[in-house]
Amino acid sequence: MSILEKYTTAPKIAYFTMEIGLKDDIPTYSGGLGILAGDTIKSTADLKLPVVAVTLMHRKGYFTQDFDASGYQISNPVQWDPATYMTLTTEKVSVRIEGRDVHVQAWIYFVESLRGGAVPVLYLDTDMPENTPEDRELTHQLYGGDTSYRIKQEIILGIGGVRMLRELGFTVKKYHMNEGHASFLTLELLHEFKKDIESVWDESLIWDFEKVKDLCVFTTHTPVEAGHDRFSYELYGKVMGDYFPERVLKALAGDDILNMTMLALNLSNFVNGVAKKHGEVSQSMFPGYRINAITNGIHSYTWTCEHFKKVYDKYLPGWANEPEIFVRVETIPDDEIWNAHMAAKKDLIDYVNRTCNAGMDTDTLTLGFARRFATYKRANLLFSDIERLIKIAAGKVQFIFAGKAHPRDDAGKLLIQSIFNYARDLRDKIKICFVKNYKMDLGLLLTSGVDVWLNNPLRPLEASGTSGMKATHNGVPNFSVLDGWWIEGHIEGYTGWSIGPAPTELEPDEKMNDIDAADLYDKLENVLIPTYYGPRKNWIFVMKGTIGKNAYYFNTHRMMRRYVTEAYIR
Ligand SMILES: *Cc1c(COP(=O)(O)O)cnc(C)c1O
Repeated sequence: MSILEKYTTAPKIAYFTMEIGLKDDIPTYSGGLGILAGDTIKSTADLKLPVVAVTLMHRKGYFTQDFDASGYQISNPVQWDPATYMTLTTEKVSVRIEGRDVHVQAWIYFVESLRGGAVPVLYLDTDMPENTPEDRELTHQLYGGDTSYRIKQEIILGIGGVRMLRELGFTVKKYHMNEGHASFLTLELLHEFKKDIESVWDESLIWDFEKVKDLCVFTTHTPVEAGHDRFSYELYGKVMGDYFPERVLKALAGDDILNMTMLALNLSNFVNGVAKKHGEVSQSMFPGYRINAITNGIHSYTWTCEHFKKVYDKYLPGWANEPEIFVRVETIPDDEIWNAHMAAKKDLIDYVNRTCNAGMDTDTLTLGFARRFATYKRANLLFSDIERLIKIAAGKVQFIFAGKAHPRDDAGKLLIQSIFNYARDLRDKIKICFVKNYKMDLGLLLTSGVDVWLNNPLRPLEASGTSGMKATHNGVPNFSVLDGWWIEGHIEGYTGWSIGPAPTELEPDEKMNDIDAADLYDKLENVLIPTYYGPRKNWIFVMKGTIGKNAYYFNTHRMMRRYVTEAYIR
């Protein structure tokens, strides 16, 4: 009997994602997109939704981060063994790549909810003896290799994924593409539902576009151009041959270049951005398509630290599966909130003192900043005016940084190095540390252990952001540029504080750095520091606001209920 037998009886939503972050032991994610996928699947298991997820194995993970003496990032491959966590199925499928049959197998991992729900995740893998050594490596490295490696991975995910679901006996009622990496699945579906017409004068009439559109849901995740995969038709021809007629493909994916986002847009009846503002930005990037917005969330139970779990269990039982209960946060006594926070803060400060010799203490106002070191996230904005920073923060504020740069992103690596340099140069005046190897466990430690979560990307490039939502579940207010989810979560002085002007239609430009930095300094000096060191009840007021008004809303349970009602059931 197949381990999947009871999962293939009823039709499923198939959720396709290039990366998924369920836990650190399964290192098949690089950042926000993967964590979101993991949190999504955890919520579907809690809510007992009929879902199956499809992703790639990434046997060498993304990478483990280390540094040389100068603070320049070194990336090491991750070693892990899928057999420890997953079961290999006997079913196999193949896809055509450069004229060869590349064989694909699937490992099954079950995401199990404490409430009894379980959702299977299929990790597709080409590392099997039937394949050439080169093809065996195709599912090794997340976002590794060149565009040829990337298009091959996307063939395995999109086309291999649909074939594997079929082979395993799944019936699928919706295909949800989490970002454009999986768009080739639309072509495989066009083949599946080809109309049975004997002879037609126009060959494109055999493709049932409406049928496929009706089956597909597409979530776009970034307004950053580089985040949208594009392949030349020369590469397409070389790798995929005559898999799909190029003339028809060009009408769907672009005349000059195969754009994976366009392909998904043209073959999905429901398309959405991941925050209200991002929906609008995407709408102007893709005029002529209707772009909806479903704001991201996080999985509440995963991203609440043990200290707050205890408090919530006592005062707000049921919170994890019904985060709306956070609306009653006022029933928690102030000192219980404060004690839970101080316990979480001690965990973090002990960790940074142990690992970075940071010499920090739990009484100082502590700001945290951790994210991918993409340049638009402006990790060094805080250091725009060193003299001013020293004047404001010396002896009053300490800073903890973390985050990885993509191994080929030299600008990102130099940015990390510059933070090491600032930390060293300012050592006698302000405590600053950079914690290495940002991953999920560290993410929880940081977002629960700091006093304030700092976020200052260049507008409007942060589609949503989710780390700030983790902070809110642990009573940590956000201090952030009004972009992504924070436009919806921010109430000045109630849930946290804004940096810079209200969201505008302005294009990002150089002036924004100065304007935002000036506001960051002003508020840190005149609002955050006095509030933190003033009467404690005023600070706890904001902590409660962040739980009752932000954690209440920015969770994947609410998000998935919206996908169900707006995207899946139509
Ligand atoms: C939550 C999380 C992210 C995403 O955070 P953003 O705010 O979207 O940048 C990235 N990496 C890790 C390890 C996380 O836990």
